[in-house]
Amino acid sequence: MPKLRIVKLTPYFIALLVIGGWTAFIKLIFPQIELVNLVMTYLLLNALIAVQYGRGPSLVSAALSVAAFDFFFVLPHLTFAVAETKYFLTFFIMFVVTLLISHLTIQIKKNAETANRAKREVERETIISSLLSSVSHDLRTPLTSISGAASTLLSQEFKLSENDHKHLLETIHDESLRLNRLVENILQMTKIESGNIPVQKELHSLEEIIGSALNRLNLLLQDRPVTTEIPNQLSLVPLDPILIGQVLVNLLENAVRYTPQGSPLGIFVFQDPQKIWVEILDRGPGIPQQEKNLIFEKFYRSDKRDIFGSGLGLAICKGIIKAHGGQMGVKDREGGGSIFYFWLPL
Ligand code: ADP
Repeated sequence: MPKLRIVKLTPYFIALLVIGGWTAFIKLIFPQIELVNLVMTYLLLNALIAVQYGRGPSLVSAALSVAAFDFFFVLPHLTFAVAETKYFLTFFIMFVVTLLISHLTIQIKKNAETANRAKREVERETIISSLLSSVSHDLRTPLTSISGAASTLLSQEFKLSENDHKHLLETIHDESLRLNRLVENILQMTKIESGNIPVQKELHSLEEIIGSALNRLNLLLQDRPVTTEIPNQLSLVPLDPILIGQVLVNLLENAVRYTPQGSPLGIFVFQDPQKIWVEILDRGPGIPQQEKNLIFEKFYRSDKRDIFGSGLGLAICKGIIKAHGGQMGVKDREGGGSIFYFWLPL
C-alpha cells in the first residue's frame, strides 16, 4: 500500500522540483531574461510534464509556473500582486495550453492503447483459428489411419496374412506416436506462449544429451549415416537437459523428415569462451532465403503438405533456446542442404 502512494505522488513531486528548480536557476543566472522568452520555457516544461505524466501533474506544474512567474518575475516582484493586467492573459494562456497538451496526450495514449488491444485481439484470433485448422487436420489424419487399421484388424471379413497383421499394428503404433508428438508440441507451445516453460538449468554435458537424443531416434535414423564432431575438452553447459534434448530431437527429426531417404546427417559442436554452438547439418532441399525466419514462427509450414507436421516444432525449439538466453537460426550448407544451429551461453 505505501508503495502505491509513493508511485502516485512521485510525478507531482517531480513537477514541483522541475518548476521550482527552473525558477531558481533563471532567477539566479538570468535575472534579466525577457518575460516572453521565460513564458516559453515554462510552457515547454509544462508540455513535457503533460506528455510524461498526464493531466494531474501538468496542472500542478502549470499552477506553479503561473505562481512562480508572477511572484518572481512580474512587477512588483516578490508579491502575487500584478501591475499590468496583460499578464492575466499570459497566465490564462499558459494554463489553457498546458491543459490542452495534457488532454491531447491522454487522448493519443488512449488511442494507441485501443489500437494495441485491437491488434492483440486480431493476433489471438489468428492464432486460435490456425491452431484449430492445423490441429483438426493433423489430428484427423493419424486418427483416421488408426481407426481404419484397428477396424480392419477387428473385422472378421478378411483373412489377414501374418505380414498384413503386423503391418496394420505398425501403422497403429506409428500413427499413435505421431499423435503423441503433436499433442506434446501443442502443450509445449502453450507453455512457451504463456512464458511458463520451467527451465531447470544445471551443468550438463552436451555430449551426453546428444547421445541420448540419438538413442531416442534410433529407429528413425536407421538408414542414415550420422557424423558427429564433438571436441574432447567440452565445457559443461548450464541447461535444462529435457528441454535441450527436445530441441535436438525436433531438429534431428526434421533433418530426417525433410531430406531424401538415406542422405547423411551431421552434428557439429564447438565452443568459444562465452558460448557453445551446436549445428545439425543435412543434405536436403535447404530453406529458401525468404523463409529462413518464417519457419521459426508457429504454425508456419512451407509447401510440404504431404509431410505430416503442425508447424510448431521449430517455434518450440526457438522458445526453449531463448528461455536459455541463447539464439537459433538456419543457414545454407555449402554443397546443398541446411545447417540448423543454436548457441547457449556458457
Ligand atoms: P513441421 O515440421 O511440423 O512443419 P517445424 O516448425 O518443425 O514444423 O518446421 C517448419 C517448416 O520448416 C517445415 O514445414 C519445413 O518446411 C521446414 N523445415 C524444417 N526443417 C527442415 C529441414 N531440415 N530441411 C528443409 N526444410 C525444413
